[in-house]
Amino acid sequence: MTKTEIIKGKVKTVFTTSEPDKVLIQYEDKVTAGNGEKELLIEDKGKVCCEISKILFEKVKQRGIPNHYLDTFPVSIMSCKKVEIIPLEVVVRNVAAGSIVRQTTIEKGSEFKWPLVEYFLKDDSKNDPLLTQDRIIQMGYNMEDVGEMEIMAREVNLLIQNIFDEIGLTLVDIKFEFGYDVNKKLLLADELSPDGMRIWKDGKSFDKDLFRNDEGDLMVAYRYILEELKRVTK
Ligand code: C5P
Repeated sequence: MTKTEIIKGKVKTVFTTSEPDKVLIQYEDKVTAGNGEKELLIEDKGKVCCEISKILFEKVKQRGIPNHYLDTFPVSIMSCKKVEIIPLEVVVRNVAAGSIVRQTTIEKGSEFKWPLVEYFLKDDSKNDPLLTQDRIIQMGYNMEDVGEMEIMAREVNLLIQNIFDEIGLTLVDIKFEFGYDVNKKLLLADELSPDGMRIWKDGKSFDKDLFRNDEGDLMVAYRYILEELKRVTK
């Protein structure tokens, strides 16, 4: 298939295809943190993240939640509907960790009975700031679509939380991105891999925090998650 690179992200590259409404997303063997300040090449990381993402997107699809996922190809390539990404990162938090702990008086590990939904601006040059509803309105977003994103984000959070529960993992928080397809339909986009989630096993990090904080081998955790997901979703 002929492909032309259109976007090179920090850990994924997007290519056009001969079909104008489809793209190919290549998951790279790279991990980054701190807005790209810290970076490492890791063999097979792209493949493992792509496979985890595939399993989770297939579950999302089975639930009938609109999303961009179509198919995967060896190795580490995902075929997706072409979307115009909305520059908002939607974070759902089940347990307090990360920025909410650094920026508030909420203690790490506090459980939220009703998961929190937060919006951040997707802009590395501004350090992805936390947004308020008024700011989102002033930025010109359609609040109906923002509400729709919240509903989908909550639903996918619950779906993945339940899958992880089955394998003894806690989904602490998760980041979602959305986009509009060529027909202006709102779709869940980007990836569903441990790069965009906090996952704890027996209270210890099992996600990108291992790399962010030099706490252990990220690939041991990611491979474990993939094998367990394969086992419970067969
Ligand atoms: O840093 P913070 O606690 O706000 O991150 C919340 C969640 O969003 C974490 O799972 C983190 O991995 C994810 N995230 C992300 N990409 C960003 C910022 C946060 O995937 N640019």
